[in-house]
Amino acid sequence: MKNKQSSVLLIYTGGTIGMMQDAHTNELRPFDFKTLTQQIPELNKFDIGLSSIAFKKPIDSSNMHPVVWIEIAKTIKENYHKFDGFVILHGSDTMSFTASALSFMLENLSKPVVLTGSQLPIGIIRTDGKENLITAIEIAGAKEKGKPLVSEVCIYFEYKLYRGNRTFKYNSSHFDAFRSPNYQPLAEAGVNIQYNKSALLKPGVKPLKVHLELDNDIIVLKLFPGISKKITSSIINTKGVKAIILETFGAGNCTTQEWFTAELKKAIDRGVIILNITQCLEGTVIQGMYETSSHLKKLGVVGGGDLTFEAAVTKLMFLLGQKMSPAQIKKSLQTNLRGELTH
Ligand code: ASP
Repeated sequence: MKNKQSSVLLIYTGGTIGMMQDAHTNELRPFDFKTLTQQIPELNKFDIGLSSIAFKKPIDSSNMHPVVWIEIAKTIKENYHKFDGFVILHGSDTMSFTASALSFMLENLSKPVVLTGSQLPIGIIRTDGKENLITAIEIAGAKEKGKPLVSEVCIYFEYKLYRGNRTFKYNSSHFDAFRSPNYQPLAEAGVNIQYNKSALLKPGVKPLKVHLELDNDIIVLKLFPGISKKITSSIINTKGVKAIILETFGAGNCTTQEWFTAELKKAIDRGVIILNITQCLEGTVIQGMYETSSHLKKLGVVGGGDLTFEAAVTKLMFLLGQKMSPAQIKKSLQTNLRGELTH
């Protein structure tokens, strides 16, 4: 790594990007990461020193779990001072959840953590993986005045760099798989990489703090017209639930039927956190805008603003893991911690 301008650690967790098609069986299987520069010789031309760590058992990201997020966060913690930036290779299916979780777990980041993946494996002629990986590495190694240019958890996919906790997977078959409707891209890669500097988070001034406690005692209640009282009550009263994400209509609206309001009230009185996010992919929850959300506000349901579903799930896991009081959790849910919320 001598004489290189910057150094980047690649962390391979699994997903299509790290797979090769077996010449005989046509099966997709993870390739040996030590041979990465053989797969992508362009990587040798970089003025960036590359090292890699591959998880022992690479996973399809549909099997992602908070335990793996903790493993990734620990890997970054252990290597934080040795590298200028980090690239996480990850399946695209749950990439937005991982990016959101890591954004909360890594407090005071002053270096880039860029997640990327691909829709087609490296090794397939039309792969999108090579471009995604090469540019993700370039972004993770980019510096300005000797300091990393980006200092947050991002997703790079198909020529765009996004704030990770603003994204969701939008398309299962196009290369352009992610969207971030409530926040502008952080950079776009064309002939040059154009950074949207005013959109980037400021680097943390305090030392990195890595939070490794997550609590997944959460349930999601997605509303639809005609939702049944019996099923809804059993979901809300599930034993051990500490938080419920209520996926509502439009600007945070829901039924005003008495039984529904009474169930929510009972849960809130027991100390359960109820977070209201919208089923719309763009826009925000404004409790009290309509009569159909005023009752939620009065009950103490927390308005989730423009949090994505992915950010809502992981922010709740993170806050519940901090062993805060329900009042502190409610306050933090409405506070912009890592650029996940528009105020
Ligand atoms: N199912 C794969 C995964 O998420 C798809 C991909 O790699 O993009 O792991």
